[in-house]
Amino acid sequence: MTFALTINGKPAQTAETFEVINPATGDSAATCALGTVSDLDAAVAAARSAFPGWAATPDQERADALNKIADLIEANAAELSTLITQEQGKPQTGPGANFEVGGAVGWTRVTAGLSLEPEVLIDNDEERVELHREPVGVVASITPWNWPLMIGIWHIMPAIRIGCTVVIKPSPYTPLSTLKLVELINAAGILPPGVLNAVTGDAEVGDRISSHPDIDKITFTGSIPTGRRIMERAGPTLKKLTLELGGNDAGIILPGTDISTLIEPLFWGTFINAGQTCSCLKRLYVHEDDVETVGAALAEFVSAIPVGDGMQEGNLIGPLSNEMQFKKVSAMVEDAKAKGAKVLAGGSASDGPGYFYPLTVLTGCTAEMDVVRDEQFGTVVPIIAYKTIDEAVSAANSLEVGLGASVWGNDTAEATEIAKQLQAGTRWVNRHAVLNPTVPMGGVKQSGIGVEFSEEGLREYTTVQVLSIAK
Ligand code: NAD
Repeated sequence: MTFALTINGKPAQTAETFEVINPATGDSAATCALGTVSDLDAAVAAARSAFPGWAATPDQERADALNKIADLIEANAAELSTLITQEQGKPQTGPGANFEVGGAVGWTRVTAGLSLEPEVLIDNDEERVELHREPVGVVASITPWNWPLMIGIWHIMPAIRIGCTVVIKPSPYTPLSTLKLVELINAAGILPPGVLNAVTGDAEVGDRISSHPDIDKITFTGSIPTGRRIMERAGPTLKKLTLELGGNDAGIILPGTDISTLIEPLFWGTFINAGQTCSCLKRLYVHEDDVETVGAALAEFVSAIPVGDGMQEGNLIGPLSNEMQFKKVSAMVEDAKAKGAKVLAGGSASDGPGYFYPLTVLTGCTAEMDVVRDEQFGTVVPIIAYKTIDEAVSAANSLEVGLGASVWGNDTAEATEIAKQLQAGTRWVNRHAVLNPTVPMGGVKQSGIGVEFSEEGLREYTTVQVLSIAK
């Protein structure tokens, strides 16, 4: 079976196809239609012509549509979850593919319940002025490969909730769950044809999205270089942009912290989805007197975690998602070892099959190592020793990125005060990578523009239009 695009409510096959690789085996998971620029143009035309009708649809009907979509995802959870594991690698159980599908349902329902009422700004004897938020128009969504279904939902749901129409382009590494989701929604007739379209394609299709005159907004989640390229190319048509980009989140463990009760959230905050999460902890700053204890505790914890094919019951961590990522993580650990890092767990690439990299704990790491300086996005935690809290805060803030950051300590009030000094879109205390659909998420510095989730996120799909009435 070849996975199809969806254009104007109908499945669309293409002349060319490509194979999606299962990262646990290195074999093909499925064949997928490869979209072209003309497929994209057809999808945008469908979204454009569906826009006025959908924007004019009563608000409650759009909210009902989202709740029906949530029901549909629940009814097809097993199929979607299997596709996620086969294309991306995360295990079915634990905080893996079933969790991702559950999150997709939860986010959709919460978004159904959001709304943006008009605000009365002035109302006196002379005038009444109201602020209305109108849907921005045709939205293009471009998603990465790490949480393919969930991030697709984060883009699609607020857009259609508020009256926009959408063309989604998933990552070529992980298109299957997105194409299936869009096919299911259209086959069920929940949305009018053209409201939600899906295409695939290479960088040429990506570039056409960025410059397309009929796309009003792009929501992009992915790397900083691609985000910059999109912003540059979107300039001439003045598109609205939400850019959720890379990070390199720091965590600081305060001196003398007993981490025995914190080890589980520390582990999942670092290694969820094999560390391939934008807001995973990726640099761990530990007081020099505690490095040995913290390193040993983490090494012992990771050694007991079952790693393997996500379709096999019991595994909690799967492979890295693709060969590119596997090579990148392997090279970063080799660079760290060559520069003097000590390996307490893992530390050498597996021979395969599949792109498995063992859970790795490194001590003796420094700011000069690639694994500290750049976003590694994998199964590695580099531990960097500090002498004073000021030094740790300054190191945490030293990079050009600022997605998330955390402080860990037994005195929550003290940890909270230090967390306030961190330059990040989300500052966590004794937790990391904890997201919620009612809490805005976004990056500061080079980690992005705009936020997702909650009413704040919904506003990103609107333009402000004022109604000013003389009395
Ligand atoms: P990527 O930038 O390589 O690709 C992301 C998407 O952009 C893919 O769909 C890709 O096909 C598409 N793309 C590639 N070239 C394009 C072009 N010229 N024009 C338009 N689109 C193009 O990123 P990735 O490797 O898939 O994802 C990993 C990155 O995503 C990491 O840096 C991670 O931190 C980041 N990320 C951020 C968040 C967040 O919320 N801030 C969430 C998840 C992932």
